[in-house]
Amino acid sequence: MTRIVYLNGAWLAEADAKVSVFDRGFLFADAIYEVTAVIGGKLIDYHGHAARLQRSLSELGIACPLTDQALLDVHRDIVRRNGLDEGLIYLQISRGAADRDFAYPAKPEPTLVLFTQAKPVLNNPRNETGISIATVPDWRWERRDIKTVQLLYPSMAKMEAMRRGADDAWLVEDGLVTEGSAATAHIIKPDGTLVTRGLSHALLHGITRASIIDLARGAGMTVEERGFSVEEAKTAAEAFITSATNFATSVIKIDDAVIGTGKPGLVATKLRGLYTESRLASAI
Ligand code: PLP
Repeated sequence: MTRIVYLNGAWLAEADAKVSVFDRGFLFADAIYEVTAVIGGKLIDYHGHAARLQRSLSELGIACPLTDQALLDVHRDIVRRNGLDEGLIYLQISRGAADRDFAYPAKPEPTLVLFTQAKPVLNNPRNETGISIATVPDWRWERRDIKTVQLLYPSMAKMEAMRRGADDAWLVEDGLVTEGSAATAHIIKPDGTLVTRGLSHALLHGITRASIIDLARGAGMTVEERGFSVEEAKTAAEAFITSATNFATSVIKIDDAVIGTGKPGLVATKLRGLYTESRLASAI
């Protein structure tokens, strides 16, 4: 099926949507993005993603081309135009096209693109099996809190993990797990405590992470927001990742260490259930 994509105010068949070779997103990765899950044609955790989008833009000094309401309308419209029941909406905003120069253009005209991907979010087969992780060094830049399109290193990390026979990568810096290649990393200690890295410039402030922490606390769990080492993760009762694209998925192996029983953990499965239930109820 040919998708209908949004480009700077126009709705176009995907083959007809063209961006300039001088777009700074292409030349400098001078662009940010967001990903929102869609279930039953409704947007999941939209307000969190919209708020982080504004934060990323303001950190880079890029003006948002649309008002908050217009952005929401475009999200709803792209779902409708593509008949999207379940999947993802990707939004990208670059500083726009300008003659190649490290200095920002004086009068930027940002490029705004949205496209959809239809895929199972709720019934992802990896929920049943869990995933295996390989640890790799975190060689990204130091402003990972800004959701930029500089995704080459996470892509290289995932390829390295797959080369080593794992499903995905966890990135490690100064002995501590920063996050996954495209997800937040969490562990459950043997006493049931949820441990997840505290927020800083070192990692993306996951929207799913924030919701999972609230739900865990609401369910009476203790939550520690601190870094954890690869060794601590390997001896944890459970490990899992969260993101808009997978909600919460258990990690059953890290490098050569089997985690817990080697099957998706009960706590991660419970948290995914709580997240799914609450986010479906608040989807817009
Ligand atoms: N960390 C990184 C590096 C990511 O790329 C992502 C998602 O794309 C996440 C964490 C999870 O963020 P969220 O829960 O907002 O999808």
